[in-house]
Amino acid sequence: MSYQHSLVDGSALSLPVGKVVCIGRNYAEHAKELNNEVPTEPLLFIKPASALVAMDEPVLVPRDRGQVHFETELAILIGDRMTQVDEQAAQHGIAGIGLALDLTLRDLQSELKAKGHPWERAKAFDGSCPLSPFLTPASVGDLNDVQIRLTVDGEVRQEGNSSQMLTPVLKLISHISHWFTLEPGDVVLTGTPAGVGELKAGNKLSVEIVDLLRIDTEAK
Ligand code: ZN
Repeated sequence: MSYQHSLVDGSALSLPVGKVVCIGRNYAEHAKELNNEVPTEPLLFIKPASALVAMDEPVLVPRDRGQVHFETELAILIGDRMTQVDEQAAQHGIAGIGLALDLTLRDLQSELKAKGHPWERAKAFDGSCPLSPFLTPASVGDLNDVQIRLTVDGEVRQEGNSSQMLTPVLKLISHISHWFTLEPGDVVLTGTPAGVGELKAGNKLSVEIVDLLRIDTEAK
């Protein structure tokens, strides 16, 4: 059951599966809920390709590793190689728009942060990035007005709009490309709105780009 990128119509994309570049604290309300400072420049981290799994498969909750949190994020699939690009080139290089869960071992992350250690184990473990199939950029339209939502067991837990991002999508891709070359098949996660919480086996999840894409899945 190895992960492959695909479009929502079921067609496979001829892109390899690459790294995932993520931003922390890109919505001010989320930074506040975890008592984090709102950063003055993007806070980046990376998940390896081995973190990727299909979101419509059951989401496996790691056992005996403390609290596992869901973070619902807009995901951008990269189609072109990008090194030090501007926002216009960033826009042309997008192959798809989808949804991700940035699963986080929150207790372990807090422990690592307190020690001043990297977060890697808390964020980049196998299966830590369930991903949806992708919409074409044309079908999404304005990247600065995309509404995402997570419903858990019938209750809306997270909702946010890309207009609330501290670093908007194209600026973020451009910024990332000045540090890490983005390759075709890489994915950029754009941060989570407020409302993160514990994911438990048995939870029924509905993850949405409102009016455009909905993935129903469950935690196991
Ligand atoms: Zn996140």
